[in-house]
Amino acid sequence: MSEPGAPSFDWEHEVETDQSFENALSKARAGDRLDVDDATELLATGTDRAGLDRERTEAVLQAADQRRREVVGDEVTFIANVNNNVTTACNTGCLFCNFKDAASRFEGDDPEAGYTRTPAESREVVRDAVRRGVYEVCSVSGLHPALALDADHREALAGREGVNYRPPEVYGTDPGTYIEQLRAMAVDGVHVHSMTPEEAEHALRGTDRTYRETYTRLREAGLDSAPGTAAEILVDEVREAICPGKIDSAEWVQAMEGAAAAGLDLTATIMYGHVENIRHRALHLDVVRDLQDRTGAITEFVPLSFVHPNTPLYEQGLVDGGPSPAEDALMIAVSRLFLDNVDHLQSSWVKFGDERALQLLSCGADDLMGTILSEEITTRAGGTHGEFRSFDDYARMIRAIGREPVERSTDYRQRRPLPEDGPYGPRLGPRADGTPILDEPSLPADD
Ligand code: SF4
Repeated sequence: MSEPGAPSFDWEHEVETDQSFENALSKARAGDRLDVDDATELLATGTDRAGLDRERTEAVLQAADQRRREVVGDEVTFIANVNNNVTTACNTGCLFCNFKDAASRFEGDDPEAGYTRTPAESREVVRDAVRRGVYEVCSVSGLHPALALDADHREALAGREGVNYRPPEVYGTDPGTYIEQLRAMAVDGVHVHSMTPEEAEHALRGTDRTYRETYTRLREAGLDSAPGTAAEILVDEVREAICPGKIDSAEWVQAMEGAAAAGLDLTATIMYGHVENIRHRALHLDVVRDLQDRTGAITEFVPLSFVHPNTPLYEQGLVDGGPSPAEDALMIAVSRLFLDNVDHLQSSWVKFGDERALQLLSCGADDLMGTILSEEITTRAGGTHGEFRSFDDYARMIRAIGREPVERSTDYRQRRPLPEDGPYGPRLGPRADGTPILDEPSLPADD
């Protein structure tokens, strides 16, 4: 087991408790509500010994698998979705990020400087996906300095210092406003999952608008649910180390409460396995469970294993890799046991790879993400799928581990077990008729 953060950071929160591993495990098996000490003991397989204990690990995983069976049964869900990230322009400088390009590079004509999509381009990406049966668009973007809520917000920010704003004319491509992007993506009945707390803060920066008001405006423009990403680790000493430019933990929670108050469903995430210690992971789970106790709006929890290549954390020698497979399994398992008020737990094949993602379905997880269609894939439909999972892939993979493949809607309110025989395609979307996603769409364009 790696010891995240141990060599470089002098944390206020240390990995020590007044609990024993055995007591914590007994509570977990009995279904008692766990506290932070319990979670710490389970994640560490006992703070009384160094490293992870194999037998204790197995006991925690079994308890979580049993809990999963009791809460959601043997179904494994997935969704037909497309990613449309509007821009990679961002000058926030998070040390774990390998996604962004410095915003200043977009002010020139650097062809390598990532991309920005106009609202019209976003609409085309989504519209093509919906014609193929996709019914969720997931959109998480960099904090482009020209992005603002709407034209009035742009006007209010223009010429001001300290609000991370530059006019769209400075850039090669105008991303439009958040409202324009959402209106563009909300086509043909698709579910729009977008606007993280960090993006919401960008959409209200320099104003006295509340998160609730901001999310209400976004909802009116077509937003259906908000992803609880940008959470990383919800303990400020860790955030100061890895993402000092981001909002703090309390503001992240405030933003999520604002989204829930605006009537939106939420998800929540943890991005773990970098500099933080096990105590931080337990504290994070506590923040999420408290938020869910107050809102009831979180539909799923998504543990995101830190992927270290090409990140400043790795390049600067602050980490020497990501979490071990055992840490990944324990993170899933303890999330299942601790979050007694969140039904669904995702295993991400993008983060873990197919084999491990399937293994984690036996450690407490019950959801296997989505197809993640992308524009690049549709333009070479029929070729190598790359980062795409077809419904046939899902049926084969999930049945191979003895579980039942079930198509779901974003909010889990609609569920459709796949029939015995394929070929398979989505049926829950407004244009979904069961045709496999990469087959040529049968419905004509309507404009
Ligand atoms: S705000 Fe998001 S895109 Fe920007 S650097 Fe941080 S993680 Fe990357």
